This record gives sequence, structure tokens and C-alpha cells, in this order.
Amino acid sequence: NEGYISAQIKSEKDDTITVVTAKGNEMNLKKGLMQEMNPPKFEKTEDMSNLSFLNDASVLHNLRQRYFNMLIYTYSGLFCIVINPYKRLPIYTESVCKIFMGKRRNEVPPHLFAVSDEAYRNMLQDNECQSMLITGESGAGKTENTKKVIAYFAMVGASQQAVAVDVPGKKKVTLEDQIVQTNPVLEAFGNAKTVRNNNSSRFGKFIRIHFNGAGKLTGCDIEHYLLEKSRVVRQAPGERSYHIFYQIMSGHNPNLRADLELNEELIYYHNVSQAELKIDGVNDQEEFQMTDEAFDILKFSPEEKRDVYRLCSSMLHMGEMKFKQRPREEQAEADGTDEAEKTCRMLGDINHEEFLKALTKPRVKVGNDWVNKGQNLEQVNWSIGALVKGIYARIFDWLVRKCNQTLEGGTGEKKFFIGVLDIAGFETFDLNSFEQLWINFVNEKLQQFFNHHMFVLEQEEYAREGINWVFIDFGLDLAATIELIERPLGIISMLDEECIVPKATDLTYAQKLIDQHLGKHPKFTKPKPPKGKQGEAHFALIHYAGTVRYNVINWLEKNKDPLNDTAVGVMKTSKGNALLQTIWADYTTQEEAAKKAKEGGGGGGGKKGKSASMMTVSSMYRESLNKLMTMLHTTHPHFIRGIIPNERKTSGMIEAELVLNQLTCNGVLEGIRICRKGFPNRMVHNDFRQRYSLLAAEVAKSEKDPDTCARKMLDQLVSNGDLNDEQFRHGKTKVFFKAGVLAHMEDLRDAK
Ligand code: ATP
Ligand code: MG
Repeated sequence: NEGYISAQIKSEKDDTITVVTAKGNEMNLKKGLMQEMNPPKFEKTEDMSNLSFLNDASVLHNLRQRYFNMLIYTYSGLFCIVINPYKRLPIYTESVCKIFMGKRRNEVPPHLFAVSDEAYRNMLQDNECQSMLITGESGAGKTENTKKVIAYFAMVGASQQAVAVDVPGKKKVTLEDQIVQTNPVLEAFGNAKTVRNNNSSRFGKFIRIHFNGAGKLTGCDIEHYLLEKSRVVRQAPGERSYHIFYQIMSGHNPNLRADLELNEELIYYHNVSQAELKIDGVNDQEEFQMTDEAFDILKFSPEEKRDVYRLCSSMLHMGEMKFKQRPREEQAEADGTDEAEKTCRMLGDINHEEFLKALTKPRVKVGNDWVNKGQNLEQVNWSIGALVKGIYARIFDWLVRKCNQTLEGGTGEKKFFIGVLDIAGFETFDLNSFEQLWINFVNEKLQQFFNHHMFVLEQEEYAREGINWVFIDFGLDLAATIELIERPLGIISMLDEECIVPKATDLTYAQKLIDQHLGKHPKFTKPKPPKGKQGEAHFALIHYAGTVRYNVINWLEKNKDPLNDTAVGVMKTSKGNALLQTIWADYTTQEEAAKKAKEGGGGGGGKKGKSASMMTVSSMYRESLNKLMTMLHTTHPHFIRGIIPNERKTSGMIEAELVLNQLTCNGVLEGIRICRKGFPNRMVHNDFRQRYSLLAAEVAKSEKDPDTCARKMLDQLVSNGDLNDEQFRHGKTKVFFKAGVLAHMEDLRDAK
């Protein structure tokens, strides 16, 4: 239950050790089950890379002891770890902000603000863009921390300049306000209650805050990734759809509900009422008010707001449209038109008969002819689901675009940015699908980026300091898995290929993968059924954080993401909902493409003329991931790792196994393993002389030049037998130490 507990060795016999635990119990244990504990002065240490003994047990012990004292931030070398406190702590106030401004890491306790301030200072001093990468599993606190980081930058870089927005009851709106107000909007549309988190982000985001050369805030933009669309038509037990639907339905604004022709009862709408309807402690009416106000502050017009709400309403009505089918016939037809009429009014008065016909008998091109293709009941229902998802995803894209227009911030110089990434961490479930492949792939890339950063920087520093060191490239371990996923004939490109092969199925795809890689690629394996878990799997990949079994069912469809082209064509005729036109503007229907081809004689259209049906989901994801990685490589990164302490949303309780597993998945333990191979602690010569002059008093006093002095002091420590050559390196400006050596030096100093 506790993972590791502290104990004292009483006696040793062969491989068995007798220990007495802190509670006074005597136990006999095999040697391999124990790890060395750090001396008491390392209790609740702020940076775990200073620990004498860097092992899983000490890391867990240290984090746990700190957490029990609500010290939720802890460093581990380049990582800043944060454990979700599950209660509001007074550590994010404006006065706390001020404590951290302009302070160095070692002058203040570990804190997100310390990391943020470091990023801000690095930006101005080194003339370099910065990034903060916040990862962790669901409920780890990524989004909460992201919001605090942004609030911090909004404060230190405050422009204080009012921007022209006419918001009733608000005198002055600043760019900082607007940046902060993107949260209610994005969360209303992108967050939902899940089993693990009442406010779970179902998308990833990268927020860049721009500054001028003087460090004043001049703008902001947001990039988003992998929105979970399926939630708008399906909710698992214990979960809800996106907050916005419940906010609209909350009746905060009864006129709105009437305007949207919505029934008062949520339960009436299948698309949002399959599981939970309420969230403990959340008032959807108040939340609606906040979303609506945020819209105003972000300069959404009343018409735009109305159109958004109408489209949300159309999605509820669409879910209630009924169809029927005669026995033994493969043609569905409308069963009543009430809901279709409401839907079509919300879509801006499109013709409901045309819309229904598009659903039941879409026009498709066969050779050179257009024919109406009959659809059975299942196909119609399926295509409605796809349209609802398609509309929602496009609304989300538009919201982000629109926020970005407002946050552009005018003409101020944008010399640097600090980017904040809030993205789901590595995940493994009983059943892992296309979505998990992508999340895990992104994390594999981010981990490689971390390794690259850590090692390249380390090695560069060692080289600069001229110290003797054998180059080890730890990024290589990850390269094989990344290559397996992204290279030609890899997992993703084979999926894209299979999507254009006639008669291909998910299983033909799986078979091709197996033929291509099983027994040939070291990171591709057969899925072993893990004990006690269910969920069929077709192949497994060895990721840095563990082996994941993937199930390929529905991958072809998820990747192609097809829409009823005729129905989209009908929507594009909407005159009464400008937003509907906007969101479909870059979708070219087959009919439009054919027309364009005729007029333009092909060419010219480029990506736009084809994108709707030709771009796979993977290829779009790949493009945005590549863009992200390229951008991150131009920045100086800072790594925050969120940890969820337990699965009960309870403060002050640590589930050891859960925490240890996350420390593996988020690369903290790996980072420590690698750290131990190098020289994680370092001191500039002069600091070294001052701190340890006691240990070689004569030399320290007589030798003026810090470099020579440090060398002589080290020589003396070696000849005294206090240090050996492997424990340190003497560089041009600094002395480098292996993990734990500084602790030893401190002991020597204390003993003097
Ligand atoms: P997901 O991947 O599901 O989006 P997440 O990592 O973004 O999860 P958050 O939504 O940030 O997780 O946090 C979950 C909940 O935990 C929050 O709603 C809040 O109640 C609590 N929480 C997280 N961090 C803090 C914090 N620093 N202080 C107080 N409460 C917190
Ligand atoms: Mg989140």
C-alpha cells in the first residue's frame, strides 16, 4: 500500500536482511527489495537531484513527506514536479506573485512561479523564446497550473493598456484580462466531467504569450490539438458531454432557451443525457454567465454568440430526429419532421426537406454521373452523429481562431514568446485505440525532446568546461519507437495507405502491420493479455513508459472521418446562420470540387480544393505535431510534471503505486537514472572556494586565482582520501560533482 517504508537495518545474513520499521516491526527481507535511505538532513529536500541516494524509494519518500506538509512543488533536476493538492492553497495570490518576481530559483522555495519567473528572465537575458511543458495524467493539475502560469505572466508583463471593448458594467478591459478570459470559453466548449476529473480538458493546447523587447505583454495566440469529438454524441457512465450544453440548458437565460426551441428537461436530449447531468459543487447557471461574459470581453458579437448557441441547440435537436425503415428494405425515411424542422431553423433556416433527403438519399458521384444513394437506418443515424461531431469540432476551431484575432493585440512589437503547453500525458487503458496512439506518440516526442535538451545541454556544458566525459545519447532509446510510428511503412503511414485501399478493413490493416513489423522491429510486439484485464488487442508497442496494447477497431473510419457530403452542401446554403457558413468555408464538397475542376481545368485549387475528403485525421495531426515540435526546438524549455496523488479526489492522501507509476510515465525516474550517470551538481570555482575553504584552509587562503585554487583544493581532498577522482570533474569555470558527493562534502564541512 505504501510502496516503500523506512526502516533500519538490524542484521545481515547472506542475502537476507533483518530490519526494524519505523513503527517498530521486525522483518526479514531479501536484499534486492531494499533501497538506501538518505540522511535525515535531506528530509523534504527541495531538489531531489541533490539527494545522496537517488532511487525510487527516496523519490517517493521525499515527495510524500513534502505533500503531507502541503509542499506540493518539488524539483528534480530539470523537472518541477507538482502534486495536486485537491484543495485551494493560498500560494497563488498577487502578493505571492510579487515574492517570486525577479528571484532566482535558489532564493525561493520550489514553486511554479519560480519556474515562470526563470523563463521570463531567461527570455530577456538570453534573447530567446521560452516554453513551459506541463504534462501529467488526467486530474494531475495541468490546466490549473497552466492558468496560474498565464496569470503570472499577465501580471509581470502587464501592459495595463485598456483595449476598446464595450462590455456593459466593465469600465476597462486590458489585453491581460482578455488572455485570462479565454479560459471560460475554451473550458465551456473543451472541458467535460469525466470519471477522473470534473473539469477534464478534452483537448490539448499550446498558448503563446508574446512580449516586446522590454518584457511587456503584446499579444497571445492559442493552438489546439486532438479535441475529443465523440463525447458530443456519446458519454460513458459517470461522465457528461461538454459543459456548454448544460450551461445553455441551465435556464440562466430563459429567453435564450425559448429562442433555441429547447425543452426544459435535459433528459429529453439523448446527446447530452446518457450518463450524468450535474456536477457536484458546480452551478451551470453561474458558469453560463461567466462563459457569456467572457465572450463579450473577447469581442464576440451578439450575433456570433447567438449563432454559436443556435448551433449547439441544433446538435441537441439533431440527436432527436427519428427515422424508420420498412422490414427487409435498405432505405430509411424520416419518422416525423418536428425535430428536423427545429434543427434546420437553428441551422439558419435551411430547407428541412432538402436536409432530410441529403441524409436519406445523399448524392454521390459514380464515374461521371451523380446518383442518389439509398441509406439504411443505421447509415443515417451514423451520418448524423458524424455531422454533429463535425459541426462541434469546427465550432471549436472557430472559437480558437476568433480568440486569436482578439488576442493579436494590435501593433505592439512581438519580439519573444513564452509558450505554455497543456497536453495529456502518456496513457494506457485496458483498451487503447487511435486516440491513445496519438497521445502516446506526442508524449514519446516530448520525452525525446526532454532527453535531447537535457543531454545536449549537459554535454555542451561539459565540452565547454573541457571536462572528460564519454558522450552517451539517451535519446536513441526513444528514436526506435518514434521511427516505428512516423516513418514510411510505419504505424501511421500504413494506416493512411489502408484508408485508400478498396475493401480494406481494420483487420486487413492490423494484418499488414504484423506482416511488416512483427519479429522485425524491436519495438513492435504481439499483445500479451495482461492478467485480470480485458480488452482485445491487435498489436503492442514498446513506449519509453511501458508497453501498450492497441486495438485497431474503427481506426480506418476514425482516420478518414467521413461526412455526408450532400448534407454539408445543404448546410452551406444557410443564409440565417453566418457562423455555419464560416465553419464550413474551408470544406469543399464533391460537387463544388467538380465544378471548380471544370471551370479551372484542374490545378490552382491546391489543398483547399481537396482538403475536405483527402486529408486524413492522422495527416492533420502529424502536421500540427511537427509544427509544435519545430517551434519547441526554437525555445528554451521548462518542464512541469503534474501528479495525481490518489483516485478519490481527496487532499492529503498518497496512493504509492499510482504515484510511482506516474513517475515512470512522466520521465522523472528516467531523468534521475540518467542524471546519476553524469555530474548533476556544479559550483563555480569561487563559490566552491568560499563554501569549502574549511576543508583546505591553507590553499583557500593563499591561492588568489579561483581556478587554480579550486584545483589545488580538490587535489588536497583527494590526497587526504576525502574524495576520489571519479566523484568530481574540474572544469574551466566550475567544479562538477556526481550525485551525492556534495552531501558528503557537507558532512566533512560539518565535522570541521
Ligand atoms: P485533464 O487531463 O483531465 O484535463 P488536468 O491535469 O488538466 O486534467 P486539472 O483540471 O488541472 O487537471 O485539475 C483537476 C482538479 O484538481 C481541478 O479541478 C482542481 O479541483 C484540482 N486542482 C488541481 N491543481 C490544483 C491546485 N494547484 N490547487 C487547487 N486545486 C487543484
Ligand atoms: Mg486539463
